[in-house]
Amino acid sequence: MQGDADPETCPTANGMPMLGLGTWQNEDPEECAESVRTALETGYRHIDTAQAYDNEEAVGEGIERADVDREDVFLATKVWIDNLAHDDVLETTRESLDRLGVDYVDLLYVHWPARTYDAEETLSAFSELYDEGLIERVGVSNFQPEQLEEAVEICDAPIFANQVELHPLLPQEELREVCDAHDVEVVGYSPLARGQVFDQPEIQEIAAKHDVSEAQISLAWAREKGVTVIPKATGEEHIQDNFESLAVDLDADDVETIDAIEETDRQIDPGFAPWN
Ligand code: NAP
Repeated sequence: MQGDADPETCPTANGMPMLGLGTWQNEDPEECAESVRTALETGYRHIDTAQAYDNEEAVGEGIERADVDREDVFLATKVWIDNLAHDDVLETTRESLDRLGVDYVDLLYVHWPARTYDAEETLSAFSELYDEGLIERVGVSNFQPEQLEEAVEICDAPIFANQVELHPLLPQEELREVCDAHDVEVVGYSPLARGQVFDQPEIQEIAAKHDVSEAQISLAWAREKGVTVIPKATGEEHIQDNFESLAVDLDADDVETIDAIEETDRQIDPGFAPWN
């Protein structure tokens, strides 16, 4: 059953719409711009990109094309691990803003605590950008509890969010608790486990019970946990399907069944990840 999700039904977490559009590997400029335009006109108000996705210009083009004001869009990008020295953060963030065609981003993440990352140096540059108004919020991504606690301690500007892989096969319970303790929002990436959740029998059964897609069940489950999700979708069908997750109400049994899934899966696992 398709619900009647509309922009007003999208809850926010401290001003951040809890459903966003992911854009990793949406690299064809025309296709990427159209995905962003379609998502915004469907009702999404949160777009996630990164320097490393090589599509900031196309994302900006999609925002420009959409019949939605830039001020109404929560736009997030990330500084790549080669650019985390103090001056490189300042310089490459300005380049990102130029490519995106905007004066500020709503959220700027440290993409990974790796390679040129140095908590003091990197985060002092993020704080300067925050003070200058070029970024509205400071975020981190792929931070484990130790790195998160260090960042919260060191950064002058508040750490708003930690973006990590999160889905029913990687629920990240401990990390969610640590984020909660520090008032840091959790943004879940690869919230469909890049398609792996579709084959999970428990998710299939709950999807059949609600007469919705497995994707919608996964996204609704994450929202139940207070997690913001940014599924990547390219064409209108997936963009719409994921948006309709906002109209899915899971009951306590559904959540309990998903919580009890024992199988685990981590999709994104580079050698430079802090857990390796
Ligand atoms: P994902 O969102 O879990 O899965 C995306 C895949 O699912 C795509 O192949 C997409 O196909 C398909 N899909 C989307 N909606 C669907 C639906 N309703 N039914 C069937 N298939 C559907 O994986 P992801 O792209 O890895 O993660 C999402 C976003 O998180 C990324 O795009 C990126 O913005 C962010 N991310 C961040 C990090 C980080 O280090 N911070 C790492 C990974 C990802 P189509 O494209 O054909 O629609």
